[in-house]
Amino acid sequence: MALPSPVSAMTIRPLVILPDAVLRRTSEPVGSITPEIRTLVADMFETMYDAPGVGLAAIQVGVAKRVVTIDTSKEEGVREPRVFIDPEIVWSSEEKRVYDEGCLSIPEYYAEVERPDRVRVKFRDIEGREQEIEADGLLATCIQHEIDHLNGVLFIDHISKLKRDRVIKRFTKAAKRDAA
Ligand code: ZN
Repeated sequence: MALPSPVSAMTIRPLVILPDAVLRRTSEPVGSITPEIRTLVADMFETMYDAPGVGLAAIQVGVAKRVVTIDTSKEEGVREPRVFIDPEIVWSSEEKRVYDEGCLSIPEYYAEVERPDRVRVKFRDIEGREQEIEADGLLATCIQHEIDHLNGVLFIDHISKLKRDRVIKRFTKAAKRDAA
């Protein structure tokens, strides 16, 4: 007799890597929170923690839905999972801050990006309830980085064209080498 599969079963999904054109797609609003969306969110956390990373957008696992998972907790062994469904920035501060950003779709590449220091974000939680938070610091940077993904924008779009072309060229070469 087969044992019932555990409800909490989660899967690490493969990450979409630069220069895959999927990363340039605009993601669709989620609408109602179906069991597929709940599974997607669980898998995204599993994939993000495994990487490890502090944020992930659904498009990075090849799903063009407006779903973002984030955990910016700094304390070792403490998890603070946050999910943002159909997130939208409703306010950004005038003050900017520079952060050395990286991306699970552009492994081991980091560059300084300037973004608003604080943002207010409207979104829905996993139960479909409307939420709004004001974020600062790493969380603010991370939310903006992930919402960019939902619009097909990568953090390298915020750096100089010279640096961007260089990193795209490097990843294009690596992809060709891996495909060979
Ligand atoms: Zn990213």
